[in-house]
Amino acid sequence: MNPIWESIRLSVCRQCIDGDSSGACRLPAGELCTLEVFFPSVLSTIASVPTWSVEKQIEAMRSTVCSQCPEQGQDGACQKRKALECALDRYYPLVLEKVHSMKTFVE
Ligand code: SF4
Ligand code: SF4
Repeated sequence: MNPIWESIRLSVCRQCIDGDSSGACRLPAGELCTLEVFFPSVLSTIASVPTWSVEKQIEAMRSTVCSQCPEQGQDGACQKRKALECALDRYYPLVLEKVHSMKTFVE
């Protein structure tokens, strides 16, 4: 398992409303987690932004990751994001914090 994903599982997934205290995911069968699905793109996006500014990192994530997600409409709107149903969007600051603490992996 990717060591950064493992670390996310043990930190973010434990706090996620769809996770449990051990980091296991409790999403219903057939439902995919956007954070997990797009994790490789998330890591390359984070590494491509020359600042750890949360605002700039979110902007980059919306432009590179959300743009390849079928949930986003042509106008850039996303009902899942609006309803706080996207784990990637909900926990992005936590993901940034975790990746930052392990930044040697993405440099
Ligand atoms: S929905 Fe995603 S972030 Fe939440 S527990 Fe499942 S894998 Fe982790
Ligand atoms: S915020 Fe919407 S478009 Fe972006 S990854 Fe989540 S579900 Fe997909």
